[in-house]
Amino acid sequence: MESYDLGFMKLALAAAREASMREEVPVGAVIVSAGAVVGTGYNCREERQNPLCHAEIMAIQEASKALRSWRLDQCDIYVTLEPCVMCIGAVLQARMRRLVFGCRDPKAGAVESYTACVKISDSITNCRLPKVCLPMSLPRCFRRFFHA
Ligand SMILES: [Zn+2]
Repeated sequence: MESYDLGFMKLALAAAREASMREEVPVGAVIVSAGAVVGTGYNCREERQNPLCHAEIMAIQEASKALRSWRLDQCDIYVTLEPCVMCIGAVLQARMRRLVFGCRDPKAGAVESYTACVKISDSITNCRLPKVCLPMSLPRCFRRFFHA
């Protein structure tokens, strides 16, 4: 299972590199359904001048469009950085099946580092979100960027 997760985390990392090349904060995300990528996103807040354009939101939009559904309950999301409050909210609203993230974000991580929104949201959406942290899946330079 771990190499399965690492494979998709590498794709999320490739998306993060895309953000980095565009001088954005390097965060990437992919959404997987039945073993296939259905959505990819990278942080493009600067380019679009839009605070909503985090990697997870971009990937969720793409996946919802591809699957023609807001309900992504058969999907797993892989993101290089622990999601923020907005993004964990979106992941829960999409009823996603599983969350895999790379490094913790002590500054804004809303899964377990800065705050733990998952617990609160669990009672709202009535779904449990299994989460896996894979910090060593990321190159040291990425982890250092977020002081994780
Ligand atoms: Zn976010």
